[in-house]
Amino acid sequence: MNLPSKFGENVFSDSVQKEMLPKEVYKALRATIEAGKPLDTSIAGAVAAAMKDWAVSKGATHYTHWFQPLTGLTAEKHDSFIEPDGDKVIMRLTGKSLIVGEPDASSFPSGGSRATYMARGYTAWDPTSPAFVKEGTLYIPTIFVSYTGETLDKKGPLLRSMTAIDAQAKRILKLFGIQCKKVATTVGPEQEYFIITEEEYEKRKDLQLTGRTLFGAPVTRGQELEDHYFGVLKTKISEFMRDLDEELWSYGILSKTKHNEVAPAQHEMAPVFSTTNVAVDTNMLTMEIMKKVAKKHGLVCLLHEKPFRGINGSGKHNNWSMSTDSGLNLLDPGNNPEQNTLFKLVLAAVIKAVDDYQGPLRASVASAANDHRLGANEAPPAIISVYLGDQLGAMVDSIVKGEKYVSGEAPEGSLGVPESPIFPKDATDRNRTSPFAFTGNKFEFRMLGSQANVSDANICLNTIVADAFQQFADELERAADLEKAANELIERELKAHYRIIFNLDGYGPEWEPEAEKRGLLNKKNTADAVPVLYEEKNISVFVRQGVFTREEAIARADIRLENYTKIINIEALTMLEMAKRDVIPAVSDFVADLCQNVAAKQAVCGDIPYATEKKLITKLAALNDEASAAIEKLEKDLGAINKEDIGPASQAMAHVIIPDMEALRKPVDEMETLTSSDYWPYPSYFDLLYSVK
Ligand code: ADP
Ligand code: MG
Repeated sequence: MNLPSKFGENVFSDSVQKEMLPKEVYKALRATIEAGKPLDTSIAGAVAAAMKDWAVSKGATHYTHWFQPLTGLTAEKHDSFIEPDGDKVIMRLTGKSLIVGEPDASSFPSGGSRATYMARGYTAWDPTSPAFVKEGTLYIPTIFVSYTGETLDKKGPLLRSMTAIDAQAKRILKLFGIQCKKVATTVGPEQEYFIITEEEYEKRKDLQLTGRTLFGAPVTRGQELEDHYFGVLKTKISEFMRDLDEELWSYGILSKTKHNEVAPAQHEMAPVFSTTNVAVDTNMLTMEIMKKVAKKHGLVCLLHEKPFRGINGSGKHNNWSMSTDSGLNLLDPGNNPEQNTLFKLVLAAVIKAVDDYQGPLRASVASAANDHRLGANEAPPAIISVYLGDQLGAMVDSIVKGEKYVSGEAPEGSLGVPESPIFPKDATDRNRTSPFAFTGNKFEFRMLGSQANVSDANICLNTIVADAFQQFADELERAADLEKAANELIERELKAHYRIIFNLDGYGPEWEPEAEKRGLLNKKNTADAVPVLYEEKNISVFVRQGVFTREEAIARADIRLENYTKIINIEALTMLEMAKRDVIPAVSDFVADLCQNVAAKQAVCGDIPYATEKKLITKLAALNDEASAAIEKLEKDLGAINKEDIGPASQAMAHVIIPDMEALRKPVDEMETLTSSDYWPYPSYFDLLYSVK
């Protein structure tokens, strides 16, 4: 395959635009994309015509405004290009249809910000993210807003948050004599996923309805041998990955690394980073393509954060930084960070933002599924802290303690083998246990769930850092001696937010009590994490930065809690159905057969104790009773919840229903280990995790 020529072949990319658009139109469009200039709508007609011609040449017959409603998924409604022309048709895309669409908004979540009788919603073209052709349709990335202008999606606020950070970062840069057209945040989301066979998947109702296994006894060989990470790829997996890469590349997605992850059947794909809104769009597309390509191979791609208990969950590391249009990375420490006032200022702003807004950041990654991962053994704990590594950690320590900093030159490493080259050692070691780690020239926010739309976390990150920049700029623009004022500010802020820095093992048992002493938040589930979003301070930062209106901020928190409640409800109902209709009858049948066996043996052999069967019968009968009692309790508690009342309902889900589900799972999982596999209604963890040969 000729990769360079296939790369991006399905994308209306910069080079295609350049080739197909009139020069002036192209220039105007680039000004919007690169410098954030408002779109000159008079060019829309010409862009639409070129886009349509290009799409038709790729076999497209339809176009769709592609958007990201608050369901967390993507949405699309296809219209064909055809327009009657006498007794024939012509293919046409007008400027107006490129710029706005009007899908019926009433069936998308709005958190009450739009009554259903006011169902008007509009999609508006986002020219900064390229259009593409997929399966005969031209996809036009758009934002989704209501008739009254409230955003109904994840992309609108994301773009606003990028505008906010652009404006404030430029003020900081200007102080240091750096002029630029635009500061954009960049994101490289590393995507983890599981692959199992379709055949096994189809036998599990829980995977199909909820994305995770609700029952399942642990497998005898999990990940303890640590032999899967970076292990040799199985043939079927490597065939899948090759197809996946080709497909991703054709959409211009820079899939760079692929490897086996820690858990059996778990893998990862890391793309090269891009501007945040493009990274979000391509990540959404990546997830969709992963599922499609897997299906072609008779496989299923599981994107749920915790498909299997006792096995590592899947996350999405959000590598995040800020760069100017001329390529200056604001988080690049350079060789002498201690002398780099701009870098120290940016670092202090991020540290301050993360400390001040731990609550919203934590909430931005909260979901029913991610709750199983945060705080579990492999994942970052639910406590937000910042890891800086040895070099920067020492630099910050010296500032806070007022000691002189001895520059730790990044040490040169040698492999200790004469033939091997001397290589520059990284200034930051890898720390896998920190939720928010500095990794060389970017921060890696690791709490995001694997199926999340990464907008939420980035909206928050951009907004809170913009706010810190704003405060810094307000102060420093007035200073007579910038260098002196900046260093005083840095020292003051680092001292004030020193508690958020934690350079040691985030999984260790000492961290929780230590974090509590420092007054850091530790919200272990969505129902407890989301309500901080209603606090005045956490609403006003988004309002101040022009990212959410007050109503939007509240509506979004409501939707999170509502969504959480709905998911737990579906899981509980699925569990009940599986237990009542499959598990209990299966165990009962098995017990009945054991009883018959005992009776038959007794008839032939007379009075022998038959301890094996009898013990098993007693044990299973008792566990089946325990399961039945747990079913009754779960049904009763679930029935008592008023799901409309989202605050109390989400609390009840977290603190009553989840423990109830746990109480049901326990006897069922134990019964699985005692029941003949011929009787057990579902594939085991072994069948699932080792299904791909
Ligand atoms: P590491 O070795 O720390 O994992 P890599 O260079 O392998 O770092 O990058 C990991 C991810 O971080 C990749 O997706 C990469 O594209 C992304 N990344 C690298 N630099 C940046 C940056 N400046 N902004 C955002 N993401 C970045
Ligand atoms: Mg990583």
